[in-house]
Amino acid sequence: MQFKNPVISTNNHRLTSQFGKRADPITGRLGVQHDGVDIVDAAGLQRTQDIWCTAIANGTVVEKWNGAEIGHGVDILHAGNILTRQYHFKSASPLKVGDKVKKGDRTGIMGTTGRSTGIHLHFGVKINSTRWNNGTYVDPAPYLNGSINIGGSSSAAIKVNDKVRINASATVYATGQHIPAFVKNNTYTVQQVNNDRALLREISSWVSAGDLISVSSSISVTPQSAFKIGDRVRVNQGAKTYTGGTLASFVFNNTYEIAQITGDRAVVGTKNTAADIIDITAAVNVRDLTRV
Ligand SMILES: [Zn+2]
Repeated sequence: MQFKNPVISTNNHRLTSQFGKRADPITGRLGVQHDGVDIVDAAGLQRTQDIWCTAIANGTVVEKWNGAEIGHGVDILHAGNILTRQYHFKSASPLKVGDKVKKGDRTGIMGTTGRSTGIHLHFGVKINSTRWNNGTYVDPAPYLNGSINIGGSSSAAIKVNDKVRINASATVYATGQHIPAFVKNNTYTVQQVNNDRALLREISSWVSAGDLISVSSSISVTPQSAFKIGDRVRVNQGAKTYTGGTLASFVFNNTYEIAQITGDRAVVGTKNTAADIIDITAAVNVRDLTRV
């Protein structure tokens, strides 16, 4: 099997576990969600030599892990609020938080640290994400086989008229000049996209797509869409669901986090720290939300 966007250096992959429900490999419990894919070298070389894992697209390292579950790992944030997660490295990643990576850069050596039963790479993808604790896990397969490309010219995640912010970790424009801090506080409109860079109308500057965070689609921009994923909110008394349905009364008494946002549609839920997800409660119009 060939991956168009390789995540291990040999490009000789075998998936040992797919995304989705499976029996837990340690407890045997059935129906446990596997939030990524597991990958080994098809020739089994990981047992005799170091197999390097790589970034599948340009991005910025936002987390470096050495934990009981993940073992050694990194999270990389890419254009379009797509986060890729790599776990169970043999040893600490050579990368550090804030590092810019390019597609193909080494992220760590395939290993079996953390909650793992053999040498492999666990590779996960979250959309609408800026960090591990927000966004939604999706099947990584389309990102590996090239049917979805992050950034890049072929199917750029950033499009003309998108509203974007510049990543706080970005340091220079695509043209090399320093980005002042205050520039990162505002939302801009994409005027033009060229390969992996975008021209922002309000500041007439080119910024690398990997340094941009999509704030909302161009379809439905309201002042309230200044809300973003992870914001803590309350649902206004008497509000309906986004499609006009009735909300249970307890909804108005709770505080939620925004799990997804598209135009004026926000999905809110309760953070489930143990499972590293937001348990979804409802989709509502952003006009019916109050920040807390
Ligand atoms: Zn896994």
